[in-house]
Amino acid sequence: MPKLPSYDVIIIGAGPAGYVCAIRCAQLGMKVACVEKGKTLGGTCLNVGCIPSKALLQASEKYEEAQNHLGAFGVKVGKVALDLKAMMGHKDAVVDSNTKGIEYLFKKNKITRIEGTATIEGAGSVSVDGKSYNTTNIIIATGSDVVSLPNIDIDEKQIVSSTGALALPKVPKTMTVIGGGVIGLELGTVWSRLGTKVTVVEYMDKILPGADEEVSKEMLKILKKQGMNFKLSTKVMSAKAMKAGVELSLEPAAGGKAEKVKADIVLVAVGRKAYTDGLGLDKIGVERDKLGRILTDETFESSVEGIFAIGDVIVGPMLAHKAEDEGVVLAEMLSGQTGHIDYNLIPGVVYTQPEISQIGKTEQQLKADGVEYKIGKFPYMANGRARDERNGWFC
Ligand code: FAD
Ligand code: NAD
Repeated sequence: MPKLPSYDVIIIGAGPAGYVCAIRCAQLGMKVACVEKGKTLGGTCLNVGCIPSKALLQASEKYEEAQNHLGAFGVKVGKVALDLKAMMGHKDAVVDSNTKGIEYLFKKNKITRIEGTATIEGAGSVSVDGKSYNTTNIIIATGSDVVSLPNIDIDEKQIVSSTGALALPKVPKTMTVIGGGVIGLELGTVWSRLGTKVTVVEYMDKILPGADEEVSKEMLKILKKQGMNFKLSTKVMSAKAMKAGVELSLEPAAGGKAEKVKADIVLVAVGRKAYTDGLGLDKIGVERDKLGRILTDETFESSVEGIFAIGDVIVGPMLAHKAEDEGVVLAEMLSGQTGHIDYNLIPGVVYTQPEISQIGKTEQQLKADGVEYKIGKFPYMANGRARDERNGWFC
């Protein structure tokens, strides 16, 4: 195999972990290459995750506002109509400008972009489509992929993951969302605002199981008021795509009588898993945990010297800003500086209406850990600025 130019760092994956790390490494004077198998840079977040979902949340909120809430502000509008094609065009344009922005930053920082799927041959050597590259350090930033359930085949047409739910060609009459987590609530909200009757089926007895209990309860009430239905403590046993619609079999989580329900579209949103397919990690001895996440030490080094990992592919919350911070910190450590992330202080936001934000431990976690705490509360409804903005909408 021909040996090509050698690098200080080769990063595999150009999502928030990989592209941020590549840029920081280059800024710190390293010779950097980044391998990406997708056609565009930006990974899950920019192409099929954070950015398109937030673009649709923003656009659908405008539609909902024009339809139902502008009158209260003294703004009269005529008959409001949805142009789904234009709304999807807005989303695609936002994605396009963001991914092109990363292309520009790669060029500006003289980062070599290698298109293709990377396999690690061993410490210091990465092969991409039959070509071998030498490097001092390898950084795995290959992210995560959708999880499905037994007896459910995601076809991205009738049974969709978040990727399919971001690109439906028409507004379905009914949608069953499996999973009342972040994706289920955000994308459920989008389609509910556009006119779909959305039912969320959640295995646990609450939505957003990781959130503070009071927030989870309040949010359930608000989303119900907004028109979404919920079936909590319920498990989906199967979903079968038929000629028209999808047939689901549901069962109480504690066991009991099964029921059959139908929906035009089923969105599977039961979590994501670390993605390491095709990297050849078993062959070179990179250790992973039971969930397939690459195990690293506090310097992000894996069990093989010179091979590092950051972002969704390692332990921790699957969030873009967490991945980005790890990219910056690792680049700085590789250049001899010190770096540190406080994993207790990673904020999280759910972009429903109202938005939920969270940082640190929940009350339930503090109780479980036996930590003393004080509670402070202020109702958002009592804030003048909030009233200016919403005028009773959602309260
Ligand atoms: P990824 O973004 O997954 O990037 C990994 C890249 O590696 C991909 O481009 C992939 O093609 C490439 N790759 C994989 N294997 C190889 C290989 N062998 N060779 C070459 N390339 C390879 N997070 C937030 O913080 N806020 C949000 O609002 C938010 N919204 C989300 C909405 C949705 C619908 C989804 C699905 C996720 C959302 N997330 C959000 C999570 C966020 O997208 C991830 O945490 C983030 O993308 C992780 O970044 P990463 O770089 O680790 O991985
Ligand atoms: P999640 O872990 O947030 O939620 C999955 C939900 O599915 C949980 O409530 C779980 O109890 C439920 N579930 C699991 N198995 C089930 C079953 N068999 N039947 C019914 N319910 C079941 O996962 P997600 O919503 O798929 O999101 C994946 C990742 O993407 C998350 O880690 C999240 O951090 C990230 N993300 C973040 C944002 C944001 O920051 N705004 C937005 C979207 C996604």
